Parts: sequence; C-alpha cells; structure tokens
Amino acid sequence: MKELDWANLSFGYMPTDYNVRCYYRNGSWGEVEVCSDEYLKMHMAATCLHYGQEAFEGLKAYRGADGKVRVFRMKDNAERLQRTCRGILMPEFPVEKFEEMVKKVVRLNQEYIPTYESGATLYIRPLLIGTGPQVGVRPATEYAFIIFVTPVGPYFKGGFHSNPYIIMREFDRSAPLGTGTYKVGGNYAASLKANSIAHERGYASEFYLDAKEKKYIDECGAANFFGIRNNTYITPKSTSILPSITNKSLMQLAEDLGMTVEQRPVGEEELATFEEAGACGTAAVISPISYIDDSETGKRYSFGDTPGPWSTKLYNKLRGIQYGTEPDVHGWTTVVIE
Ligand SMILES: *Cc1c(COP(=O)(O)O)cnc(C)c1O
Repeated sequence: MKELDWANLSFGYMPTDYNVRCYYRNGSWGEVEVCSDEYLKMHMAATCLHYGQEAFEGLKAYRGADGKVRVFRMKDNAERLQRTCRGILMPEFPVEKFEEMVKKVVRLNQEYIPTYESGATLYIRPLLIGTGPQVGVRPATEYAFIIFVTPVGPYFKGGFHSNPYIIMREFDRSAPLGTGTYKVGGNYAASLKANSIAHERGYASEFYLDAKEKKYIDECGAANFFGIRNNTYITPKSTSILPSITNKSLMQLAEDLGMTVEQRPVGEEELATFEEAGACGTAAVISPISYIDDSETGKRYSFGDTPGPWSTKLYNKLRGIQYGTEPDVHGWTTVVIE
C-alpha cells in the first residue's frame, strides 16, 4: 500500500496507475482495455464536447475492518447508467461488463485503497461519452466507456456533523420533463453557479425546489433529501430528481429499523415539521442538515445543530455494511479483494 496521509486527503483528483476502457464502434462494444494514460484523444466534433452526450456514475470501494475490500451496490450503478443511456440516446453498457471493469480497476489500483482506520475510500468514476463526430444535433455513432479511480478523504473530517443549506428560487437544476432524473454532466453545469453562490454565503450547498411551481422539494444540491418526523422517513418523489442509490438503501434500512417510509411530493412548508433532515449520496452517505434558509421569504427551518438520533443510526448502519462491520442482509456489497 502507498504511504499516504489518507485521513487528510480531500475530494480531489489524484493519479493512480491504471484506468479501464471499452469502445463502441460499428454497433457493438469491444474488449476491455487496461490503460495507464490519464488522457484521451478524441475528435474535436465529438458529441460529448458539443451536445453534452455524457453520462457518469459514482461509487466507492471500502477497505473493511477485516481487511477485505468491498464495493457497494455496483449492479444498481450499472443499471442506473443503462437508464441514463436510454435517456440521452447512448448505447447501453452491459451490466456484467460494468461489474467486471469495476472489479478490474479496483484490483489494479489496490495500492491506492486507503486504510480502514483513515475513513478515506477509493472513489470509482465510470463515464460514458459520445466520441464520434457530429455537427448536427444527433447522437454519436461511436462511444467510449472509461472507469478511473482516485482515493478520496473522509467526508466528515471533524466527525459526523450538520451543515446549513439555502433555497434560491432564481436557480433551477433541472426541469420536470428534462434530464434531472439522469446522471448526466449537463445537470451539473446547470448547478455550478448556484453552488458557488451558496458557498460564498457560507452554506454547504444550494437547496432546490421544483422548477415549475417552486413549491415542492427537489434536491439538496447534488444529493437527495430526506426528512424525519414521528418515526417516519419522508423523501420527495419528483420527475426531476436523480434516483440516489444511497437514498434507496436508507429507505430499506429505515424500514428494517421499524420506521415508516414515505416517498411522495413534499411541499416546502413541510420542512417546518421535520425533527431531522439530511442530504444523502455516495460521497457522505448522510450529511445532516442544521437549517435551511429561504433566501426569498427569510424563513429558517431548523433541525438542530447536531445530527439527530435516526440520522445517526441510519448513517452508522449503512457505513457498517459498507465496511463489513454490520451484516449485509440485503446482499448489497461485493468483496473485490479478499
Ligand atoms: C449521484 C447523485 C445523487 C446521489 O446518488 P447516489 O447513488 O446515492 O450516490 C443525488 N443527486 C444527484 C443529482 C446525483 O447526481
């Protein structure tokens, strides 16, 4: 293993030894290739560069307390990528091949998988791009699927804690019938400005209401939202939300822990009734919310300065499964290195 200060790594890019690639040409996906080049050469008229034909995924490999390395729900990531492909007219990448490539790239770079104690992990980034040239707005005929990995530090450096968010109605992330439900780069370009302003104002992230009516909760920046009230886990349902695998897992664990789970439209006013609230996604698992400010009405919805009991319980449970210290009763993890 590399001698690195894993615990103080940020969420940045650090080069590793290998990435894996697969190309789509003449109507089919080719053989998996191992590559040590960080760069890719492509046509300047590639559709990913001009028309945003780009899809990505994000998952992690965790070195467990038992020394084994596990990846979390990679089949779900593979299936979500296929769904994104159908959404922006790219050829679907086969699920088994996705899984094979994830295992391969993790094993090839095992020197870079942080220690269990550090709380750091190996972030896995699959991306699929249209590489064939087009000048008119049409899908490409050639594609590249690449997976690279990079070690990332623990999300909570000072320990599990809560953060503030801000509602800014002057920005939308995605339209109700747009691409918000797909994991595509374009949604992120649309969020960069709002995110930068939220940071400047001292918030962890911007908080989106639905773009059409500005009445319902959509997402917390690039994470799903949940609220907890009266032993009930409540998370929004909308056509512009990205279906988070972390959120799906938390819903299952909430049910396992005896909570009631509701997935339905959640109006902004309901924020005033939650005892706990959080953002959820692969990066943090749960990032508890201290308060949400509404920049237009001046209202502040508060959920406590420290993580609540249910959020803490759910966080520990899910992390325990990822690190192999809790039983994986749903079969969510795959041991990649024994
Ligand atoms: C990736 C992503 C999430 C989180 O999904 P996970 O599968 O839990 O990591 C949430 N919202 C958006 C917009 C995303 O792109």
